[in-house]
Amino acid sequence: MAINVTKSFLPPIEEYQEIIKGIWENTWLTNNGPLVRKLEGQLKEYLNVENLLFVGNGTIAIQIALKALNLTGEIITTPFSYCATTTSILWENLQPVFVDIEPQTFNINADLIEAAITEKTSAIMATHVYGRPCDVEKIEEIAKKHNLKVIYDGAHGFGATYKGKSVLSFGDITTCSFHATKVFHSIEGGCIVSNNIELNKQLELYRSFGHKNDDYYTMGINGKNSEFHAAMGLCNLPKVTDIINNRRVVSEKYDALLNWEKLSRPTNDIEGFEYNYAYYPVILESEAKLLQVTEALKKEDITPRRYFYPSLNQLPYLDFYNPCPISENIAQRALSLPLYYDLPLEDVERIASIINENL
Ligand SMILES: *Cc1c(COP(=O)(O)O)cnc(C)c1O
Repeated sequence: MAINVTKSFLPPIEEYQEIIKGIWENTWLTNNGPLVRKLEGQLKEYLNVENLLFVGNGTIAIQIALKALNLTGEIITTPFSYCATTTSILWENLQPVFVDIEPQTFNINADLIEAAITEKTSAIMATHVYGRPCDVEKIEEIAKKHNLKVIYDGAHGFGATYKGKSVLSFGDITTCSFHATKVFHSIEGGCIVSNNIELNKQLELYRSFGHKNDDYYTMGINGKNSEFHAAMGLCNLPKVTDIINNRRVVSEKYDALLNWEKLSRPTNDIEGFEYNYAYYPVILESEAKLLQVTEALKKEDITPRRYFYPSLNQLPYLDFYNPCPISENIAQRALSLPLYYDLPLEDVERIASIINENL
């Protein structure tokens, strides 16, 4: 059977049916319905955060975040992430300024941020890549000193913790994606976590066209999500701990089998960090090796993915170039291996030996 880089978790169908039955009783399909509010309540508890809004996807979450913080001019950001991080900035007519990454975590290098700040800079937006936290302390210090806002794209961070807190609880705003491919999902979906209640109110208005009933406060957009998506989230949330645990077992199998003389990986040696096993990235010696390994796996119907490629400062539609040699180099050699809750360990053995044979 084909093995993909990921496989969406599906709860037992009866559990989903049980939850959506209520929708047929109250005919409330969307617009901040009872299941959406229930999911928001459970997410706040699980993540231990005060302000959280369930939204349509992880990209609209970033776009609404950029609007609600009234950002202008330049946004300092990371070149090593999914394209949605960068394109959301462009979509809001803001200017991304790329700062290179750290070679250990692949997160934005906080030591390089200050040199990129100009009078036009209004925020720092970084991704907790593969779930590993950015240097949130240093970034907060820089932001305070220069009066900048901080947004984290936490799309990989669900279930990961740093110093006892969810990775999603830092900055002015953290966004997350609950897309079907993520550790926790609601088919499509996402959330916006913010650090104060006034900001949360503004985000809530933007999520729903800028009005409440007949009171029109501001322009807005449609960032809402439906009762059916919330129902999937409600089914999946109690299973997250088991899902993460299974992913850990698969990851540890790879750890034990892969040839680390020829491969490297981002560090988990971050004090106070507990990983959510969101991805299993390996770094090959060269792009040629990466292509060779990918080809060998494809012959066995196994599909890894190049997360993340290209380095976002090299997106073909950008009309400027900020050199980021480390990100560009890592992006050429990074391959995410298949990792999901029920990937059989025999398949992990097969994948590892195909890789080792092609190093
Ligand atoms: C998945 C992902 C997104 C986009 O989330 P969607 O819910 O698909 O819109 C944004 N940023 C990162 C880093 C992601 O991995």
